[in-house]
Amino acid sequence: MANKRKCRHCQVYTHDFIVVGVMAFCDFDHATSYAYAKKDKGYEIQRKTARKETAKRKQEIKTRRQWIVEAQQSFNKFIRIRDTPDPCISCGTSRADIESRHGWKVGGCWDAGHFKARGVKQQLRFNTYNCHKQCKSCNGGSGKFSHKAATVDQQYRINLIDKIGLARVEELEGNNELEKQDIEYLKRVKSIFNRRAKHLIKLRGY
Ligand SMILES: [Zn+2]
Ligand SMILES: [Zn+2]
Repeated sequence: MANKRKCRHCQVYTHDFIVVGVMAFCDFDHATSYAYAKKDKGYEIQRKTARKETAKRKQEIKTRRQWIVEAQQSFNKFIRIRDTPDPCISCGTSRADIESRHGWKVGGCWDAGHFKARGVKQQLRFNTYNCHKQCKSCNGGSGKFSHKAATVDQQYRINLIDKIGLARVEELEGNNELEKQDIEYLKRVKSIFNRRAKHLIKLRGY
């Protein structure tokens, strides 16, 4: 994707900008407003209004696909926070081991790994039983090295049974519901998991 630039007028970052000289703008309107109104006393107000309108417009044109990405990010973050003390769900490597191997890049050591892949059972994308903290090496292994992926998945299943019980694991495996994940639903998912993550951080004092 192309770089983002900040609109000189409304100050909102955008991928979709026009360039005038060395300055970037959302569109021609914002470029002219900037050029003409710069000396105006009311300019700051005008700029703030433009900023609000641009932000609103961006929310409105956000596609379902973008909402899925945002909802998934906040869900995955919640999972990593919830499972902070836990070892990798697949290989069982402890938090201390992984994090000492990776130095201080603590946030970068872990992924939220789905038991049933999102592509296969997309209705389980935001299911908290279906997703657990996984080390990057186990999470990244699937697909690339198929013999490794098979072991990773088997280990995931064994450890998952330990963690949530066989009944719940079988429930996930047998789940074939078709859930409608429209934009409203995705917005709710995003805000619920943002809230739950914040709550946990506060509760546990991270
Ligand atoms: Zn702008
Ligand atoms: Zn692992």
